[in-house]
Amino acid sequence: MIKDCTSVWDSCLRTIRRNVNSQSFKTWFEPIRPVRLSNNALTIQVPNKFFYEWLEEHYVSLLKMTIRQELGENGRLEYQILMGAPVAPTVAKEPVSVRTNSKRSGGIQPGMIDTGNIKNPFVIPGIKKLKIDPQINPTYLFDNFIEGDCNRLARSAGMAIAKKPGGTAFNPLIIFGDVGLGKTHLAQAVGNEVLSSFPNKTVLYVSSEKFTNQIIQSIKNNAVNDFVNFYQLIDVLIVDDIQFLANKTKTQEIFFHIFNQLHQNGKQLILTSDRPPKDLDGMEERLISRFKWGLSADLQAPDLETRMAILESKMSKEGVELPNSVTEFICYNIKNNIRELEGVLVSLIAQSSLNRREIDVTLAKEVIKNFVKQINKEITVDYIQKLVADHFEVPVEKLAGKTRKRSIVIARQLSMYLAKNLTNKSLKAIGENFGGRDHSTVIYSCKAVQDLLDTDMIFKDTVTDLEKKIKLSLNEV
Ligand code: ADP
Ligand code: MG
Repeated sequence: MIKDCTSVWDSCLRTIRRNVNSQSFKTWFEPIRPVRLSNNALTIQVPNKFFYEWLEEHYVSLLKMTIRQELGENGRLEYQILMGAPVAPTVAKEPVSVRTNSKRSGGIQPGMIDTGNIKNPFVIPGIKKLKIDPQINPTYLFDNFIEGDCNRLARSAGMAIAKKPGGTAFNPLIIFGDVGLGKTHLAQAVGNEVLSSFPNKTVLYVSSEKFTNQIIQSIKNNAVNDFVNFYQLIDVLIVDDIQFLANKTKTQEIFFHIFNQLHQNGKQLILTSDRPPKDLDGMEERLISRFKWGLSADLQAPDLETRMAILESKMSKEGVELPNSVTEFICYNIKNNIRELEGVLVSLIAQSSLNRREIDVTLAKEVIKNFVKQINKEITVDYIQKLVADHFEVPVEKLAGKTRKRSIVIARQLSMYLAKNLTNKSLKAIGENFGGRDHSTVIYSCKAVQDLLDTDMIFKDTVTDLEKKIKLSLNEV
């Protein structure tokens, strides 16, 4: 059978899909187009150089393996990079009630704005030629935005954009995630980076509330055109928390217009939201479909290691040192909100200096009570599974599955063993937590772990360590 590039690439995609998560698949593999197949070399087209570099950095072994599987030992992969900035999809002519004066905005240098005719809500008064105040917090930088699995994609996309605002496939970049996970920090880090690398570029950060209020004002003052024209001057526009635009029809209409103009002119848009674009209820479909042009990258709750790294970086910024037991205690208990993590640290420092108390786990516990409704009181099987899975770097859901892979079997058996010793759950209840296994499997696992403990010192240390961590979450140490 003669193979053609499309069918070869399609089979590659099937393998790749099984090996990467769906977000990565969508982001990095779906946009690739097979171009040709000759002499065992498959040429694929990627949207830009960054894309190519990302694939080579993160997926080179997977790609190699896949290509060999399809084309044999001598199979090769070649890239073709689509040159230049991504072509903006053609914008359908939508009826909008605002009119822009492109001639006017086109003649003005980015960064320096002649405010003669344009009402600029952000100008710093007092100088004749005015520069837009970017409204950015200068301390939100990439340097102090700790990288972890929870934010890798969004952070890298942000860095790529900062190098080439408007010139990557990530336009718009939508950063979404729960409150306190760093959306504002990351979006502003891009802004700060652009400002330092491209001093002539105009960057503007605006919250959705402020944006809405400005629109209401401009409608009142009959100055919507000025408002829109002002926004045409921005090179990098950051709009924070766009979920607040929901159900605000007029605001959305004007935003849609600004969005299109900026996008068409190769300007960068960065939006944040507390949910993925598709779940933005009360948002016009045409806006949501625009959001899909770029990249939606989520920020997840950081894992323990990342929380520790973040806390440590905040500590060194504050110039404080805490005992390890305290930082661990804080990070075990504050899981879903980085702002709270910082809040606990600040309160601890304040409490300790006001009341002249040493910072220890007891004080940390008192402080944390004000932040979380309930500190973990009970060790759960879920918690044990999570901790053990993290330790062995296996996906936690595999513990309930059927995989017989060695690392997973060990993690599974050890979790059962720890559940039996550290919770008061019955063998039957424990088995149910592992995909409905019966109590004899739990007994068998405990026995297997015990045998290993008796013979393998390294394993024994690992288990002691894990037990300590689990108990620490209860403040029992
Ligand atoms: P959001 O906008 O998602 O609600 P923020 O950007 O306001 O969250 O972040 C909350 C706090 O957590 C900020 O002080 C921010 O500096 C900090 N933060 C979030 N993510 C990180 C990170 N990866 N590294 C360091 N600090 C972070
Ligand atoms: Mg925010």
